[in-house]
Amino acid sequence: MSWRHRKKEWTEAIKQYARSIGFEDCGIAKPVPLDEEARQYEDWLRRGFHGTMQYMEKTFEIRIDPKKLLPSAKSVIVLTHSYFRKEARYKPNSPKIARYAHGLDYHIVLRRKLERLHDFMCKLIGREIEAVYSVDSMPVMERVWARRAGLGWQGKNTLTITRKAGSYVFLSVMLVDVELEYDKPFESDFCGRCNRCVEVCPTGALVMPGLLDANKCISYLTIEYRGDELPDGVSAWTDWLFGCDVCQEVCPWNRFAKETAEESFEPLEPIKEWEWGLWRRLSSNPFKRLFRLSPLRRAGLRGLRRNMRWLGVEPILPEKNKQPETN
Ligand code: SF4
Ligand code: SF4
Repeated sequence: MSWRHRKKEWTEAIKQYARSIGFEDCGIAKPVPLDEEARQYEDWLRRGFHGTMQYMEKTFEIRIDPKKLLPSAKSVIVLTHSYFRKEARYKPNSPKIARYAHGLDYHIVLRRKLERLHDFMCKLIGREIEAVYSVDSMPVMERVWARRAGLGWQGKNTLTITRKAGSYVFLSVMLVDVELEYDKPFESDFCGRCNRCVEVCPTGALVMPGLLDANKCISYLTIEYRGDELPDGVSAWTDWLFGCDVCQEVCPWNRFAKETAEESFEPLEPIKEWEWGLWRRLSSNPFKRLFRLSPLRRAGLRGLRRNMRWLGVEPILPEKNKQPETN
């Protein structure tokens, strides 16, 4: 079998296997240093739009060149995995939590799938493949690679929008030392004249179409930001306790959102059922027990209480509640 033929067969088998374990789509790009995207990223950092996320600055050189992460890399495999579930309707008198955080932590769930994909590739190709992979936790520009791998475009809300499944998808990236067939980059932009996400953003974080000032973004403020007070100039918002989906909820492409079959992303009971009263009374031990494997751990109970205050909802602390923090 010719080298070209074998490469095609491997590529098809890898994509098919990825779909069989629940990924919506899989695209492959050539690992080249980024040029125009690097300049845009540098400009974004220069304006301070990354807020307190210093790691984005520190890892700049690695982010713009995948070979700094894996010198032997010959392919960038990019995978989308839906987290959309239809039943995520918010009850009245309940806080809103971004959809991606309704179930178990996607880092754990998708890491396992990426390990399975890596094992499959080693068996397929018949050698130990050098690879680095992650979902949202290694210094790579996932959205840039998603476009380069032909999976979708970066919408005016800055997220990757796919024609097959909208934007409620996790992006995983795997660098491997195997040359596979590269997909054509996704050159079109199907936002067209739509500007809904920019118009509805509650805090004006989309300062221009496709340009996010994280300092004003509810997702950043409720999860990554560590200050007690809202930064100057940020207007208050309603309902969103952890993350924000407003710029995705209005996106017409999310009519094509695909319900995930992954049971781990089924919403946890408190997220489905609890009204504000129970969230206000949440104390340390129940938080640890209930959210042990949830993305909400990132904000911690302290962060959730602070977010409640920002929403004008006063948490009821155990002292006041007269309940010990031990159960
Ligand atoms: S996540 Fe919310 S706050 Fe952030 S850009 Fe989208 S709509 Fe605006
Ligand atoms: S809401 Fe409209 S402008 Fe915003 S990302 Fe979706 S299609 Fe693009």
